Amino acid sequence: MTRISLLTAMLASLSFPAIADPALDALLAAYADRLASYSEDELIWKDGSRMPLGRLQPNLPFEQRLNQASIRDQFAIPYPLSGAPFQAPAPDVDPGRLRNEAFFLKMYGDCRKGEVKPRLKAVPWLPNHGGGSVRVTTINGVADQLEKVSRELDQLPTALIGFLVPMSGTYNCRPIAETNRLSVHAFGAAIDINARFGDYWLWAKRPDGSITWRNRIPREIVELFERHGFIWGGRWHHFDSLHFEYRPELIALAKQGWPRE
Ligand SMILES: [Zn+2]
Repeated sequence: MTRISLLTAMLASLSFPAIADPALDALLAAYADRLASYSEDELIWKDGSRMPLGRLQPNLPFEQRLNQASIRDQFAIPYPLSGAPFQAPAPDVDPGRLRNEAFFLKMYGDCRKGEVKPRLKAVPWLPNHGGGSVRVTTINGVADQLEKVSRELDQLPTALIGFLVPMSGTYNCRPIAETNRLSVHAFGAAIDINARFGDYWLWAKRPDGSITWRNRIPREIVELFERHGFIWGGRWHHFDSLHFEYRPELIALAKQGWPRE
């Protein structure tokens, strides 16, 4: 056997995905219990089912794109690196808000069919400050991650606790306000901190449709959630500053400096 043919045989014995895609690699790593691999056009789940990755749809009007986001669209707007300054994002820059509903339904279950509740677990919420407990999904280790967040938040200076206790909700089988899309709360993978300090784009929208970004949530709180895989709604043009949801793939990609110019 020549050296070249030996090398060829060795390479052939390894298995590579059809194409390397950093975004999809991050997705597999984040949801390793559920996802197996991907091909050029499909996501392959550990139970053998396949789901179309779909296409990027940059030319769709944003509201329509939100309603019919593909799995590829989920990565269309990069999430900023933790530590990035808080500032008003450009119009329609809502990293994490493009969600393929079929993907989330398959991952966490459909609350309208009673599939989410049996997978919820109670997590103590800032126990040193009487936060009670919150219920989130155990899928993908979300409950364990939120428990870490809670333990660390519990150690923050007293001045910050009021932003966190009382918290304003986790699991809730409901659509996003004024839409037919399920909220991440319906999957048990999101938490709203104290609504008293929350700012929400719909309430800040002017009659001419323009939105003035606003935030009162301190950086220490946001960065602590981000360290454990939760993205923050305050980094959206259509902001929701009390909202955090479990999307570790987006944070992992930011750390990798993706997308590279
Ligand atoms: Zn929320």
